Amino acid sequence: MTHARWSPRTLAAQALGRIDEASRAVVPPIHVSTTFLRDPDNQYRSGNVYGRADNETVREAEAVIAALEGASAAMVLGSGMSAATAVFLALAPGDHVVIPKVMYWAMRNWLLTDAVRWGLRIETVDTTDLAALRAAVQPGMTKLVWLETPANPLWSITDIAAAAAIAHGAGALLAVDSTCATPLLTRPLALGADLVMHAATKYLNGHSDVIAGALATAATGEFWDRIRRNRSMLGQILGPLEAFLLLRGMRTLPLRVQAACASAMELATRLANHAWVADVLYPGLPSHPGHDIARRQMQGGFGGMLSIRVRGGESAAIATAAAVELFKRATSLGGVESLIEHRASIEGPGTPCPPDLLRLSVGIEDPADLYADLDQALRHAHP
Ligand SMILES: *Cc1c(COP(=O)(O)O)cnc(C)c1O
Repeated sequence: MTHARWSPRTLAAQALGRIDEASRAVVPPIHVSTTFLRDPDNQYRSGNVYGRADNETVREAEAVIAALEGASAAMVLGSGMSAATAVFLALAPGDHVVIPKVMYWAMRNWLLTDAVRWGLRIETVDTTDLAALRAAVQPGMTKLVWLETPANPLWSITDIAAAAAIAHGAGALLAVDSTCATPLLTRPLALGADLVMHAATKYLNGHSDVIAGALATAATGEFWDRIRRNRSMLGQILGPLEAFLLLRGMRTLPLRVQAACASAMELATRLANHAWVADVLYPGLPSHPGHDIARRQMQGGFGGMLSIRVRGGESAAIATAAAVELFKRATSLGGVESLIEHRASIEGPGTPCPPDLLRLSVGIEDPADLYADLDQALRHAHP
């Protein structure tokens, strides 16, 4: 399949149209072998030597992600965290990096504790404020600018193209955690980013049954090779069974994302008028501070994630989450089932997350049912 010719939905549905040549199977087999036969003349002409570095099922998942992101190459790893940390561990101790104030909390905690101990010099900045970002990068010193957009849990939007110009002007790479945008809504590489990261656990797999991570790069080269070497040496790999589930999940990615976006927009609009909701944070609403950039930067929707601030503060928010019947009270996001979470409880000290905030991951259920469930829960919490 020529990737330039077909749309992302078509490429995803057929997992690039690959078939198994030996059997003519339309769904390629799962390759589980950890080792490969050497040729009699001592060569490895198949390109496969050992399973920690080489696996065909893993490569098939990578090819789909690379096509969807318009990347030169993609890499899948054992989790979103292993994908994100692999990028930072490919830097050198002493390197200066700039990270956002609002971002995935576990990654922020790792960067501000372990990565600092390892020797990275980390500066935290509000990346939605381009003047602040410009002031934070140090020409010749900053090696990496990390973004997340839309960013957990406020769904802040950073202008990727503008941030790429700032990072490149200082000689730094730009990497984007695009988990919540998915490759369908935003293609960071086309906007100037050098690297894209996904918690493939979320939308890419989409069924809450695989932990996986992915990286995609605009250009292969020394930095990409170092990440690849780290994956192999540190063994941050995805197993072939998980890679197969990820491949299967990605076949329906465009349909799931489309449904989640439409339902999230409907819920955001209706909840913005709800008596017990003080605020709705969703980039699709004109009231959201990132709306104008999101309209330029996101195509086909504003994502399936939104947060609401509940009238009555933290106790009312927790009581609302306690009263849902359809939404599942659970962490994570991007699955077919809708989830609700009191985020401040999980993020702990230093979180920018207000205590009255509930994070919603909108699945593919009927949006009328989802609204009815939130409405009854909000009423239950405000007798
Ligand atoms: C879940 C998530 C991660 C971490 O991914 P894991 O697969 O849980 O390791 C990173 N970034 C974002 C935005 C996420 O939602």
